[in-house]
Amino acid sequence: MLNDDTRIDGLIDFANENAPKITCPECRGELLLLTGEGIHECPECGTELEVAFQFAGEQFIGCEVKLKAEPVADDEDAALFAYIDKLDEGRAVLARLQAYFDDNGEIHPESVTWGHVGSLTYLVSLLTQARDMVDHTGEYAN
Ligand SMILES: [Zn+2]
Repeated sequence: MLNDDTRIDGLIDFANENAPKITCPECRGELLLLTGEGIHECPECGTELEVAFQFAGEQFIGCEVKLKAEPVADDEDAALFAYIDKLDEGRAVLARLQAYFDDNGEIHPESVTWGHVGSLTYLVSLLTQARDMVDHTGEYAN
C-alpha cells in the first residue's frame, strides 16, 4: 500500500524507492514499475504485461497485472485456422493408415485368424464411411 501519490492521467510520479513492485503472473518475478500504467515487459521472462493502477478515490492502492491480451482473430480467421489444423490432423491419420495397409495390417500372413478378418472388416467399413462422406455416396448421398 502506497500513499501520498496523485494520479495524473494514468501516471504517478513515484520516487524510485516508492515505485510499486509488481509480480509477473508468468514467472513470479518482481519488477519495479517506474514508468506508470500500460504495457511492461517482464525482464525475467519477457512476457508482456498489462498494468493498470487501482485507486480508492484519489488514493493509489496497487496495481492490477494481466497478461497482455493477444489480438483476437476475427471469426473467419479463427474458422480458417481451425480448418487448417483439422486438415493436418486428417493427413496424419491418413499417413498412419497408409503405413498400416502398406504393411498388410501389420500381421504376418501366416498368423491371420478370423478375428483379424473381423477387425479389418470393421476398419474398412469405417474407411468406406469416410470415403462416402467425401464422395457424397452411400449414406451421405444427397
Ligand atoms: Zn516474468
